Amino acid sequence: MNVTRQVLNSCKVSYRSVHIKGRGRSCSSQQSTRMSRHTNSKRIEGLNKNVWVVFTAMTSDPSIVNLGQGKPDIPPPPYVKEALAKAASVDALNQYTRGFGHPLLVKALSQVYGKVCGRQIDPFKEILVTVGGYGSLFSAIQGLVDEGDEVIIIEPFFDCYVPMVKMAGAKPVLIPLRVKSGKKTLTGADWFLDPDELSSKFSSKTKAIIINTPHNPIGKVFTREELQMISDLCIKHDALCISDEVYEWLVYKGHQHVKIATLPGMWERTVTIGSGGKTFSVTGWKLGWSVGPEHLIKHLQTVMQNSLYACPTPLQEAMAQGLLHNFELMGQPECYFSSLAEELEAKKDRLAAILQEAGMTPVVPEGGYFMIVDVSALNQDLSHLVNDGEASDWTFVRWMIKEKKLAAIPVTAFVGDESKKQFEKYIRFCFIKQDGTLNAAENILKNWSRI
Ligand code: PMP
Ligand code: GLN
Repeated sequence: MNVTRQVLNSCKVSYRSVHIKGRGRSCSSQQSTRMSRHTNSKRIEGLNKNVWVVFTAMTSDPSIVNLGQGKPDIPPPPYVKEALAKAASVDALNQYTRGFGHPLLVKALSQVYGKVCGRQIDPFKEILVTVGGYGSLFSAIQGLVDEGDEVIIIEPFFDCYVPMVKMAGAKPVLIPLRVKSGKKTLTGADWFLDPDELSSKFSSKTKAIIINTPHNPIGKVFTREELQMISDLCIKHDALCISDEVYEWLVYKGHQHVKIATLPGMWERTVTIGSGGKTFSVTGWKLGWSVGPEHLIKHLQTVMQNSLYACPTPLQEAMAQGLLHNFELMGQPECYFSSLAEELEAKKDRLAAILQEAGMTPVVPEGGYFMIVDVSALNQDLSHLVNDGEASDWTFVRWMIKEKKLAAIPVTAFVGDESKKQFEKYIRFCFIKQDGTLNAAENILKNWSRI
């Protein structure tokens, strides 16, 4: 509802739950005084539009083939579900646990990450369990970033980075990944950071850079050399690194996930973020974690203890069991950390083939479970549908959901205003889906001009 209509309605009706933007829009002075109490805080000003809210609402109809939101429809490993049922049957595990993380879970995480990082990780001082990767991003940004700071964010970016930085009173400084031109087929590796451009974004105000590898939505897995270049700049400018690695296990053949925290001089300035939802295909569990040096993690713990305090105990217990089970299997083919990527490899190749067959150009991912695709070759003229100021990928996806019953996510949801033109020809598909779901998508794409 637009602001003017809201003000008029609220004058007509009553003061109850009106939410208006800006202060002092008056119907009468008494009303305006009361209504000003109902305005949003400045820290959330302009942050009301959210791509997940918009597209989750549009895909509630079960007849829509949903390759939009990153939501697996393959079953999670049975032992994590069983562990959860078992945990819920133990009375003590239905009560609060340690606020910074259930002891069994932080110990399991310290074993797994100790092995991956090749160092001892203190389960109680160097790990914080949070509500999803989101909770870790929020605690890291709230706990470490101040008003007036600058935070470098690489475009495209997981959409919450910018609002979270703004809510901390800091300034997001955006830098787009550039794409190699003149290539027929593209992969994640064809998207790169220009070292000089990145260097120009650092200043004395830079508090941190947020990186994401494997990358959502492009599927790029940053190489050791690229991470070294980022590390050198962090060290030179004494900046922190918030490394979002929620897809850390999902890396395809020929690629390797490197943790920036393991590069020389980086452990002490990096917070690494993981997600239990992504690790075990249980996104609804909303459990995540931050791993890093005590002098940084303690500030995230301060945010946690004064906001959510603790995460659900049975979920943490079951997550710990799942991690411990796979810790024992690490290096073996049955280990879920690697077997999920094996399973997804075929789905990725299949989706790329389906999209190519339909005349589109996919960017083949090196990791993660998303694939962006250039839809401009479809020449779909939707100019009559474009909303004022809306990027064309939003119009395209809205139309595709409505007319083709196929859902994706517009890629400009992941970029700032200045980069919208560069990215609006892309939409993002998610491929952690059962064969039946991919068959249904294939059917729609094959019959594109007939449906
Ligand atoms: N970072 C990235 C890059 C993501 O794609 C997501 C979405 N899962 C998150 C963080 C948040 O993870 P979670 O669902 O565990 O909160
Ligand atoms: N991370 C998921 C994605 O990129 C979902 C995020 C969300 O639903 N808020 O699709």
